[in-house]
Amino acid sequence: MSDTPVAAPPDLIGSSAAVCQAVLRLRGDALHAELARIAGELLACPRAAFVAAPLPASPTGAASADALAADVMRDAECLGRYEIAGRIFDAGDRRQLEGLATLTATLLQMHGLAQRTTHAYAQVEAQLAHQSQILDQIHESVLTTDRMGYITSWNRGAEQLFGYSAVEAVGRHILFLYVDEMDQEGADFPDAFAEQGGRMMEVRRRKKSGEIFWASLSLSPLRDLDDKPVGLIAYLTDITERKQAEERLHHLAYYQELTGLPNRTLFARLVDQGLTSVQRNEGTACVLYLDLNRFKLINGTLGRTVGDELLRQVAQRFRSTLRDEDVVSHLAADEFAVGLFDVRQHFEATTVAQKLQAVLEAPFQIGGHDLRVGASVGISVYPQDGHDAETLLRVADIAMQRAKERVDNPDHSVAFYRGDMNEGMQQRMQIESGLRHALGHGELLLHYQPKFEIGSARLVGAEALVRWLHPQRGMVPPIEFIPLAESTGLIVQVGEWVLEQACAQAAIWQRAGLPPFRLAVNVSAREFTASLPGRVAETLKRYRIDASWLELEITESTLMHDIDYVIGIMDHISALGVALSLDDFGTGYSSLSYLKRFPIDTLKIDRSFTTGIPADTSDCAIASTIISMGRKLGHRVIAEGVETLEQMEFLRQAGCDEVQGYLYGKPLPAYEFEKALRENWLLVA
Ligand code: C2E
Ligand code: MG
Ligand code: MG
Repeated sequence: MSDTPVAAPPDLIGSSAAVCQAVLRLRGDALHAELARIAGELLACPRAAFVAAPLPASPTGAASADALAADVMRDAECLGRYEIAGRIFDAGDRRQLEGLATLTATLLQMHGLAQRTTHAYAQVEAQLAHQSQILDQIHESVLTTDRMGYITSWNRGAEQLFGYSAVEAVGRHILFLYVDEMDQEGADFPDAFAEQGGRMMEVRRRKKSGEIFWASLSLSPLRDLDDKPVGLIAYLTDITERKQAEERLHHLAYYQELTGLPNRTLFARLVDQGLTSVQRNEGTACVLYLDLNRFKLINGTLGRTVGDELLRQVAQRFRSTLRDEDVVSHLAADEFAVGLFDVRQHFEATTVAQKLQAVLEAPFQIGGHDLRVGASVGISVYPQDGHDAETLLRVADIAMQRAKERVDNPDHSVAFYRGDMNEGMQQRMQIESGLRHALGHGELLLHYQPKFEIGSARLVGAEALVRWLHPQRGMVPPIEFIPLAESTGLIVQVGEWVLEQACAQAAIWQRAGLPPFRLAVNVSAREFTASLPGRVAETLKRYRIDASWLELEITESTLMHDIDYVIGIMDHISALGVALSLDDFGTGYSSLSYLKRFPIDTLKIDRSFTTGIPADTSDCAIASTIISMGRKLGHRVIAEGVETLEQMEFLRQAGCDEVQGYLYGKPLPAYEFEKALRENWLLVA
């Protein structure tokens, strides 16, 4: 017997720890040898082996009583086998060995699994590093956003393109790169694209530096593992250069390089567009064809550089003469064209033609030369002469040739394509130049027509009406020259003269001891500008007459423009103490809601309604309505054109305040008016 403690024989639990260590630490033959050692130790058997798979065909001595074997199986796969021999084994030994085999199988399986997973992770990591390297290397900028539009990734290309680093960009909303937050693709951003599966477009974006550039943008949805859209991938490429090239091409295709004006192609397009709206409004449009006189001579003798500069300057003068809505084109060499839309009367085009001719009158100083060119102008009219730009240009060209043939002065020569229009124009030009002459030579005069209070038949005022005493034609009624003066702008001078003359007359009557009565002066829309109140005040002061002597009659059409602007001017005039009346009331379209805002004293029922009284029931109804409305708004109401007692009676009963018309007095020259006033008319004191 010995005292030496005997080591407890290893059991399966102790072996498990040993197998665990072996599987974790060892590989191949070393592992197999260790497993064999553990088996030998567990079963106290000197001959133990671990045979690795694949196994030889039949186990060596597995069946004999002094040998045992147990397969190490994972599912259906055999990983190896324990074989022991060298003593007699019982069933307990067998169970021990099989237990060890099962344990070994489980440990080998788990270790294999763990190794594969680690390997797979390493591979994924490598792949990701790879991909982000690729993303960073490509020149395109690539960024991703979530469904709300917040940036989730930003590659190096994006850093270079936009100038923002990934740190600055990630987490911000994509809209911060937009030029305008209302950009087309911003409106339904970003879900719609994610659902639709992407889209290509050309967009403008802003860099960190503030610079704006063009980019081609391709959007595709970013999906999760369940294929649900979780955001967007955006690829952007800078295409600014291509865009600029396109713009240059566009410019070359549609503009004359020399003058920068639209060329014939663009002109035709713009005119055709303009005609569409003219057609809708049943209006008139004109095309002017201008050909420079003497240009070829200058170009031939002084050379192309001078010629080119001359054309550039001509183009500038034309452009600055025309309104923004007029189209001007440089067709070729020394030929230009102008498109005018919304022309009320065809002869308005003559005014424009003359302005364009006049703007060439001052010499052009180029290269030390004083150069003079003029232009002959041909005009075609839509719709009479053609319905499209090409036709209108062609016939305007023909008209221009005709204008040039007029040898007297081709620089002032304007011709319409249709001859009868020339006549109208000729007459108009005669009237225009005649009227200018009349203004300077005392051919204009004023007649005065009395206005009476309806109940008392007392005189309350007089309307000053302009007359033109033409040396050959005799008395020309205003209807023949006022509309024309309005279209040429000459009305401003006529109006100045009328105001001056009426105030001069008021001063005479004031000095003659007449009590003040209002002298009404007609003011056309073109005179109704911010300078009018000042001019009125200054004139009253100069003639030292009281403001109660003066009244201004304005027509409804004056009120059609900028209402607040017009009301401002009216307020200034009222503040002076000058009365305002609304002439020809009922013929315009003044909105009733505005009517109450106008500081007017009197509404003047248009003559066309008075004429129908009492036979025409609707004229009667209109007159009555105007009267009651005017009174309710606190205005006086006067009816003009009263010729009969029936009209007067109707108006009196309807409650009209004043009348004016041939029944009581025609427009008369000042001295006759004064005579009638002293002899026949009662004045309201
Ligand atoms: P209006 O301001 O409505 O002037 C009234 C017109 O009706 C005047 O015509 C007047 O002579 C005429 N009239 C007056 N009573 C009767 C009548 O009982 N029967 C008929 N048949 N006619 C009557 P007139 O003088 O030919 O003036 C026509 C228009 O010319 C004026 O209409 C006014 O719009 C414009 N006008 C006249 N003088 C001037 C002026 O100095 N400046 C401006 N801007 N326009 C003026
Ligand atoms: Mg009037
Ligand atoms: Mg009138």
